[in-house]
Amino acid sequence: MRALMMDTPLLISSQLRHGASMYGDQQIVSRTVEGPIHRYTYDDAYKRACRLANALCAYGIDQGDRVGTIAWNGFRHFEIYFAVSGSGAVCHTMNPRLSPGQLTYIINHAGDRLLFIDATFLPLVEAIADRLTAVEAIVVMADATHMPECALANLVCYEDFIGAHAEDYDWPVFDENTASSLCYTSGTTGEPKGVLYSHRSTVLHSLCIALPDVLHLGEHECVMPVVPMFHVNAWGIPYAAAMTGSKLVLPGPKLDGASLYELILAENVTVTAGVPTLWLGLLGHVKETGQDLGSLRRTLIGGAAVPEAMVTVFENDYGVEVRQGWGMTETSPVAALNRLKPTMSDAPEDARLRIKVKQGRSVFGVEMEIRDATGKRLPHDGTAFGELFARGPWIASHYFGNAESAALDWFPTGDIATIDADGYMHITDRAKDLIKSGGEWIGSLELENLATNHPDVQQAAVIAVPHPKWDERPLLLIVARPGTAPARQEILDHIALHVPKWWLPDDVVTVESLPLGATGKVLKTELRHQYRDHRLPGN
Ligand code: ADP
Repeated sequence: MRALMMDTPLLISSQLRHGASMYGDQQIVSRTVEGPIHRYTYDDAYKRACRLANALCAYGIDQGDRVGTIAWNGFRHFEIYFAVSGSGAVCHTMNPRLSPGQLTYIINHAGDRLLFIDATFLPLVEAIADRLTAVEAIVVMADATHMPECALANLVCYEDFIGAHAEDYDWPVFDENTASSLCYTSGTTGEPKGVLYSHRSTVLHSLCIALPDVLHLGEHECVMPVVPMFHVNAWGIPYAAAMTGSKLVLPGPKLDGASLYELILAENVTVTAGVPTLWLGLLGHVKETGQDLGSLRRTLIGGAAVPEAMVTVFENDYGVEVRQGWGMTETSPVAALNRLKPTMSDAPEDARLRIKVKQGRSVFGVEMEIRDATGKRLPHDGTAFGELFARGPWIASHYFGNAESAALDWFPTGDIATIDADGYMHITDRAKDLIKSGGEWIGSLELENLATNHPDVQQAAVIAVPHPKWDERPLLLIVARPGTAPARQEILDHIALHVPKWWLPDDVVTVESLPLGATGKVLKTELRHQYRDHRLPGN
């Protein structure tokens, strides 16, 4: 029997409309790229998002068209999220730390018609502008007085673009499975892959992360996503904040400890989210200055494993609860979250810590399981380990541009994990051949290809080695061509021509040979194990 309830689609436009009508006077505070703090309300944001949606329609952006952004967390980026997706187009956020070559590939693969960029990223875009195949105009997210000098003919000022367009907009109603946003992940070898979120997946994910045991959002909370809006949609926080009326603090480009601290104190931030590396700066700052963390009550840390010391400092020294989260671009990203069960709260500190360093239990909507190499499901006993698989309504079934491939019913994460009887998942290793430094991926394959392009390098392998600040840094191992002895700096200079500076391996070690597996592939797991205590220069 079919139910007799309304079939109202779950749409992103309804989140901001609800935010503006129920919590219209709630504040959104942004640190701008120009420097000063910008402050307005959900009501103001709604009106400006309507102006932008009208402007996009007047320009001729159609449903399904892709609109790119290269920007920090700020109020105009927030307006773009809602205006682009809400009007039926696809908001494609990009990581400015990618190399010019990667950015060009992504913009062209997505077919972005418009780019919205912070003024600081203009040189980056100028350098690749003549290689962009679909981009018609570049909208600089600034007012007329802050427009940078530039020779590009197709440059538009954001404030001129939204101009005198109407402050209301008739948000279209369409199928909730319509694409809303696009985010590329370099999380696998080869070219970056696009993850195409839907209105339905975004709204359901927002409901999930607002829950008390995840971020605990609501009108009485003030949330500061330090995780960038180009990194899996700031883990969904802008959408969930609008929906729940949380005060929203957007920290812009300044992510150093002192700048974050200033915002936490001045705006009474109660909840934050970001990768572990970022919090080292904040904790260092408060320790140095002998301050406390004011109103901050909890922090969601994910993207990389949370060190035990970070948990103890936040919780014991500052009374801030650490909630470790696990996810991927392909999982929207929140899939697992770690909070102690009520029965564990009286356990001795070391027992509690042993749980807290795990990645967490699956949130409602997401199922997780581990499998061995033959695909057999392994027991959830906290000991058996295998590749982690996940499924749920906000987990990718295909990559963008590859819709004809068979839909995945379980997503293979490339992480190796255990799951205990209580459901706590713990990542023990990574099957995918990658390095994650400060929460951002470095592609080992690309570095290896560059290294072997050097005439004196016969074979190369790049592996992750643990690093106290960046979590992991790349180490390059090379086998020299017979009769040559390539110098470390020469190899690094050769690679530096093609990759962002932070991708450069921290060290180069020449070895006699590399361990190979049965299929002739370099055994990275063995190398990672062998070099796990390798001392990188400067450490
Ligand atoms: P995000 O960084 O937002 O989690 P990415 O798609 O860039 O998304 O990276 C996902 C990968 O990051 C995971 O597959 C896993 O390898 C790693 N990762 C994410 N969260 C954690 C965590 N809490 N602990 C360890 N590794 C993590």
